[in-house]
Amino acid sequence: MTMREKKIPDLCSVKASCCGCAACYSACPVGAITMIADEKGFPYPAIDETICIGCLHCLDVCAFKKDK
Ligand code: SF4
Ligand code: SF4
Repeated sequence: MTMREKKIPDLCSVKASCCGCAACYSACPVGAITMIADEKGFPYPAIDETICIGCLHCLDVCAFKKDK
């Protein structure tokens, strides 16, 4: 990995690790996260990698990511 490469967090590839609370969405300082409903209507966060600056604030506020 180079110094310029940013780390894009994995918020919900495992759905059991996300309740759709949108805390990450609220915490993102650059508005990179959008809440998108899945096929059952439950919202999950999606990160626009072109906007994300890799600050990881979204992981910090997520109650489901204690082992991050
Ligand atoms: S803060 Fe965590 S649990 Fe809440 S929507 Fe974001 S990823 Fe899901
Ligand atoms: S790492 Fe930072 S910029 Fe990227 S989605 Fe999370 S809070 Fe937003």
